[in-house]
Amino acid sequence: MSDTDSASRKIIPITAVDADDAEMVSLYEAHKKIYPRSVSGLFARWRWVLVWLTQLVFYGLPWLEWGQRQAVLFDLGARRFYIFGLVLYPQDFIYLTGLLVISALSLFLFTAVAGRLWCGYACPQTVYTEIFLWIERKLEGDRSARIRLDDGPWNFNKLWRKGGKHAVWLLVALWTGFTFVGYFTPIQELGREVLQWRMGSWEVFWVIFYGFATYGNAGFMREQVCKYMCPYARFQSAMFDKDTLIVTYDTERGEPRGARSRKADPATLNLGACVDCSLCVQVCPTGIDIRNGLQYECIGCGACADVCDTVMDNMGYARGLVKYSTQNAVKNHWTRAETWRHVLRPRVLVYTAILTLICVAMLASLALRTPFKVDVVRDRGVLARIVAGGMIENVYRLQVMNATESEQTYRLSVSGLAGLAIASEETVTVASTEARWVAVRLQLPYEATAPGTHPIHFEITAGDGKTSVREKSVFLVPR
Ligand code: SF4
Ligand code: SF4
Repeated sequence: MSDTDSASRKIIPITAVDADDAEMVSLYEAHKKIYPRSVSGLFARWRWVLVWLTQLVFYGLPWLEWGQRQAVLFDLGARRFYIFGLVLYPQDFIYLTGLLVISALSLFLFTAVAGRLWCGYACPQTVYTEIFLWIERKLEGDRSARIRLDDGPWNFNKLWRKGGKHAVWLLVALWTGFTFVGYFTPIQELGREVLQWRMGSWEVFWVIFYGFATYGNAGFMREQVCKYMCPYARFQSAMFDKDTLIVTYDTERGEPRGARSRKADPATLNLGACVDCSLCVQVCPTGIDIRNGLQYECIGCGACADVCDTVMDNMGYARGLVKYSTQNAVKNHWTRAETWRHVLRPRVLVYTAILTLICVAMLASLALRTPFKVDVVRDRGVLARIVAGGMIENVYRLQVMNATESEQTYRLSVSGLAGLAIASEETVTVASTEARWVAVRLQLPYEATAPGTHPIHFEITAGDGKTSVREKSVFLVPR
């Protein structure tokens, strides 16, 4: 370094700061545990209906039988997916894509109509948190009892209540993990393996992993999953507009807020309808105050609307201080009919039309699906050759997949070149839900056509003669 360089640079001395003088500023807010108060009302009832529905389906489906097998089974080892009468192969991946497109479009549609409907009522995080909270309330009591218990010293009462709660949580979580694995391994066999203590290592891993995730997410993480981990919370605002139904507080009607006696006239006290009881905050599973307006933490569960309606009933005021409404409806004082007219806007109608179209297309494609599949591969190990009788022979490998649950015999034929014939077996029998590779030899009289590559078609017809599959290939005539 030159002298001029060092002269032009300023040297800033670094001095140690006395630890006593330094003030530590944490960039992270300490997590405050939320104790949601129990709530009853229309939206709480709807949530429980969905908890029951989704869990009856989830826990019940793997136990249903269809013929000799489990009705819904995703057999990854055999690469077969059984959904009642349907047997799907990895080649049917298009249906999974269709299902994902339908799920994404449904999410767009429901979000455009009524915000975070999925989050508030059907999301597994909400559903399991609701179940775990119910268990917690049964063993530790409602909000104030739980706060008292947490603040109190460890004694026998606290120990058995907390221990009992965790024991029940763990049982539910492990049963959830077991059910999850039961979608991939026949659940009755899995049950026997559990009882006889002979589960495979992967099965043990997934039961514990899924169970642990349920226990952690629904028991401890709760609203933090929605607030910090769920990506949907981040981009859902892009799907909202001022005509989306969201849980809203009617500021004009509610403010100025303030406590008063039931008999007092709010107008003479210059008060709005909000009695500032804070119940809407106490029931909120994410611990926010809906009176501060739309916040990204709000999962649209409607608990605050339910509890506020009970407060309004007690005070003798009209319900709906906190309700599902749109920002435009609140601002313009629209009636319910006017609000719905604006909710059903072009965007919603376009989403509905596309969704209906895709659903119909997918159902039609499933209904018209051929119950077998064929893959044709030219056997590259065997070049075109001249065989006895002066015939040119090409060899192919055909994979025939039987997607029905009975043994099937298929008839093979070939077209595309005059004189082309099958010189091997013309039928192939495939066991139920199995796939079979067969070698097929095609022969063509020498000089029947010019040298080169000629397009041909295989036609494979099912035993009933009603369904057939046509597959393209080429026949090679050497010079
Ligand atoms: S529950 Fe209703 S009345 Fe009570 S604080 Fe909330 S908005 Fe106000
Ligand atoms: S603000 Fe209301 S709707 Fe939103 S999460 Fe809290 S209780 Fe549910």
